[in-house]
Amino acid sequence: SVKLDGKHAWRFFDRRRADFIAHQHRKEAELREALESDQIVVFYQPRIDARSGRPCGFEALARWAHPTRGILEPSEFIDLAEETGLINRLGDVVAEKVCRQLAFWRENGQEVLPVSINVSARQFMQPDLLQQLGRCLERCGVEPGQIEIEVTESSMMHDAAAVAETLSSIRGLGMTLSLDDFGTGYSSLSQLQDLDFDVLKVDRAFTARLQEPKGEVFFSAIISMAHSLGMRVVAEGVETREQMELLKALGCDELQGFGLSKPVAAERVSAFLM
Ligand code: C2E
Ligand code: MG
Ligand code: MG
Ligand code: MG
Repeated sequence: SVKLDGKHAWRFFDRRRADFIAHQHRKEAELREALESDQIVVFYQPRIDARSGRPCGFEALARWAHPTRGILEPSEFIDLAEETGLINRLGDVVAEKVCRQLAFWRENGQEVLPVSINVSARQFMQPDLLQQLGRCLERCGVEPGQIEIEVTESSMMHDAAAVAETLSSIRGLGMTLSLDDFGTGYSSLSQLQDLDFDVLKVDRAFTARLQEPKGEVFFSAIISMAHSLGMRVVAEGVETREQMELLKALGCDELQGFGLSKPVAAERVSAFLM
């Protein structure tokens, strides 16, 4: 190993830090440019009704059609968007695209199923979130009932009264509200007691563990609790036929996962509706 005296160690650290900061700045500028020049696209993943086996909605998932790197998934840009505040702009872009897509499908006489949109913690704290969403629906003539808002447990860790108020205004507008990635945060259960959700999306960690000891018991307990509270249950991350069958038998309402379909471009959505 290299022995550094204090001064050199500092320079070494300083240089690495400077490189890191420069790199972050480049990435931020690139993402900003992507948002301005329409490189963000929305993919749609079907949500399948467990009883009928038919699609009953879609989840909108952001993708970055990068000019040189191809289609990038959120793991490559959502954290950066959160850190830089660009998430608010990204949220507006996604909501706008979803509403325009819903309007396009309606105008083309295609069957139109509800679409769920992810709202991150930081967006959730944005004071004009609701105004923006409301205006977006109006501009495109989309019924609020066509939109579901997915929030994660981490979004709920802020000022409890403000969170409750935002959630109830979302429902007041007529949109559906779902709790995403349920079971992975710390305060899952108290949130269910304190706040009203229409849909519980159970994190894929629970789906992955269905066939382990206690896996079915766990999932079944979550379903029965959610049903007692009047919520529909969506299993995330359904990948195998065995998981589908088990979840159906346990009374899970909807299934979502690569085993049913990966997220697809808007043009490919109609193929699910034949
Ligand atoms: P999420 O909301 O929990 O979305 C589900 C994620 O699980 C998606 O990843 C989806 O592609 C993936 N997934 C679906 N089925 C399976 C499966 O069977 N197996 C596995 N391993 N994964 C599956 P994706 O599209 O990479 O998105 C990741 C996260 O990024 C989302 O998690 C959501 O939290 C966030 N995100 C995506 N789009 C947006 C957006 O427009 N706005 C905000 N704020 N966040 C977004
Ligand atoms: Mg989601
Ligand atoms: Mg999720
Ligand atoms: Mg997630």
